[in-house]
Order: sequence, then C-alpha cells, then structure tokens
Amino acid sequence: MDTHHVEADLTEVLLTEQQIQQRLGELAAQIERDYAGRDLLLVGVLRGAVMVMADLARALDRHVEMDWMAVSSYGSGTTSSGVVRILKDLDSDITDKDVLIAEDIIDTGLTLSWLVANLESRGPRSVEVCTLLRKPDAQQMSVDVKYVGFDIPNTFVVGYGLDYDERYRNLRSIGTLAPHVYS
Ligand code: IMP
Repeated sequence: MDTHHVEADLTEVLLTEQQIQQRLGELAAQIERDYAGRDLLLVGVLRGAVMVMADLARALDRHVEMDWMAVSSYGSGTTSSGVVRILKDLDSDITDKDVLIAEDIIDTGLTLSWLVANLESRGPRSVEVCTLLRKPDAQQMSVDVKYVGFDIPNTFVVGYGLDYDERYRNLRSIGTLAPHVYS
C-alpha cells in the first residue's frame, strides 16, 4: 500500500476546510432559526455523510438527536437506478418528529427521492434535506432541498466524506482528483 500524502492526489481544491466550516456555520444558524422551539432529529446516510453530520451537529447551538441509515442503490456501474435497499434502518421511531436528512452530495437525487418518500411514509411531523454539495442534475429532481451548502459543477469530487474507491474520505477539503490516480 502506498503511503504518500493524500492531498497530493488532488489537482484542484474546490473547497477548503475553512470554506466548508464557514458555510456549515451559516446553514446551522438558519436551521436554528427554522426549528426554534422544536425537537430536531438529524438523519445521516452512511458513509458519505459522516463528516457533514459531525460538523453540522457541532455547529448547532441547540439539542439535536442523531440517527443513521445505510442504503444500497441497485444500478449498473456508477449509474444509480433509484431502486434502493435498506442495509441499516434508523434506530428511532420518527412518528411526529421533525427530521432533517444530512447529505454530503446530491447528484441525480434518485436515492434521496426514495429516502424522503420512505421516511415520509412513517408519519413524521416534517422531513427536510440539508446537503453540503449539489450538482446540476439535481435541479431536475422532485425533492425540495431546503438547505444547500454549495452548487458545484458536474465534476467528480472527493474528500470530506466523499470517496473514490473508498479512499479520500478523510480529506478535510474537497477537490478534484489528478488523472494519475485513475490510471
Ligand atoms: P445520486 O443518487 O445520483 O444523487 O447519487 C448520490 C451519491 O453518489 C452520493 O451519495 C455519492 O455517494 C455518489 N456521488 C455522486 N457524485 C459524487 C462525486 O462527485 N464524488 C463522490 N461521490 C459522488
């Protein structure tokens, strides 16, 4: 296994650690206002949303509960089909709860559409979505995303929870991969 520095594989840093943390702080302030006086359950989708969950939750100056789901999307190769299987369900009952899904990135939004519909069928008070990144294709999807960190171009990015072949999730920044990584 190679042990070189992970950051050296990026051609371009799209978002620095500081930019990410600042934007999460702004979103947290908005969320605090919108959910004032109400209980809030953050739902993270494993594994990509781990960093967003951890930093968004700590940016919130209020009580929150956190729960996790793991899903697998059936699809050919890298294309997601929208057909989803639950690998790990929530531990909590979300009846009458205000649920906020914390996401790392929305590309086509197919998995997310399914997830929102699935959670809504359980009788929560509300289901909203907060995503750090959104790609252009997501504009066509039916799910209304209330909180968006950054709209980014249609390029493949890694870092801050996002992987290429399970690597780069531990980067503090988000960037594009250098071509030598693929070859
Ligand atoms: P969607 O169902 O097409 O929105 O797919 C979203 C999922 O695809 C994300 O949760 C990521 O796991 C993955 N994904 C989409 N774009 C990227 C990217 O640029 N880098 C890493 N993973 C990505």
